Amino acid sequence: MSVRWGLIGASTIARQFMINAIRAADGEVAAVMSSSAERAEAYARENNIPAAVSTLDALLNKDIDAVYISTTNELHLEQGMAAIKAGTHVLCEKPLALTSADARKLVAAAKAAGIVFGTNHHLRNAGAHRAMREAIAAGRIGKPVAARVFHSVFLPENLQGWRITRPKAGGGVVLDITVHDADTLRFVLGDDPVEISAFTQSAGMADSGLEDGAMCIWRFKSGVIAQSHEGFTTKFAGTGFEVHGSEGSLIATNVMTQKPIGSVLLRTASGEEELSFDREDLYTRSLRQFHAAIRGEGQPSATGEDGIWSLASAEAALQSSKTGKAVTIDPKLGSMN
Ligand code: NDP
Repeated sequence: MSVRWGLIGASTIARQFMINAIRAADGEVAAVMSSSAERAEAYARENNIPAAVSTLDALLNKDIDAVYISTTNELHLEQGMAAIKAGTHVLCEKPLALTSADARKLVAAAKAAGIVFGTNHHLRNAGAHRAMREAIAAGRIGKPVAARVFHSVFLPENLQGWRITRPKAGGGVVLDITVHDADTLRFVLGDDPVEISAFTQSAGMADSGLEDGAMCIWRFKSGVIAQSHEGFTTKFAGTGFEVHGSEGSLIATNVMTQKPIGSVLLRTASGEEELSFDREDLYTRSLRQFHAAIRGEGQPSATGEDGIWSLASAEAALQSSKTGKAVTIDPKLGSMN
């Protein structure tokens, strides 16, 4: 039987990627909720969704098995808690909440209710990142020493809204992109970060005290150090991800993206090799795995705990940028320094 989804939020990400992904993974989009009845109806019509509602109660009263939460970030906690209480499985957008303490509440409630809870970190579903993780785990670069993430983009005009104007909605590039870099670094390295130091900037796009650029330096448990660059204002930068080890380097280009594109080069003493990897849509893979988790097979590709890790990392980066000091990353406590 196909999983019946309710969408919480008439969002761009659902329209561009997630509705297709749910359907491609044999799920059904049963209903959409927007805070505006008019927008809900228009969105339902445009996306062939049978029901449109404008309250959370109305959505949770529909015959649905799971919800996908893609509203602005300040709403995830309350909506997630309500969905968990109603007994539906939850796939929640990143950041799970505005603080890691709130994210921990969500994940604990989901666990207590016995429902499946996932964080929509798409990048770990990319063939490129999976190939990198496998190459590292197989020892192909020897002992990993350092990583570099290039994830500074130009925020498209249609998304230049709450991300750059509304601190209360969880705007800013750190909650938007650094969370993804935290998750991708953890996934590819198979390691957890312990400390971060960050500089942020407002380079002309974001206002209201929000940052639109960040450079972070990370230290991982194994001793690996990493740097990451996140931005909204660089039109021509391109993206990439490198991991350098004692016996080789992985150099991936054009891979910090929503699409299954890019390339991964392995360079060792024996020369250069282009790694091949699958090109399945990232979000469809995430949905396939989420559906399997509902059937009791495995867990979502990014779990609630992964979402706590990425938010604790982002929180620590923001704190570091304010204090000028390196901050410990502790998913159990949040940033305490
Ligand atoms: P949008 O700005 O498109 O949507 C967010 C909310 O804004 C919607 O829920 C909607 O409220 C409201 N909204 C949308 N369009 C309009 C409009 N024309 N007029 C008034 N209100 C409007 O956000 P995104 O889709 O970019 O992001 C949503 C969430 O998804 C965020 O948490 C973000 O971090 C995450 N995200 C994740 C990505 C990933 O790859 N994992 C990629 C992009 C975003 P309502 O529902 O009440 O109508």
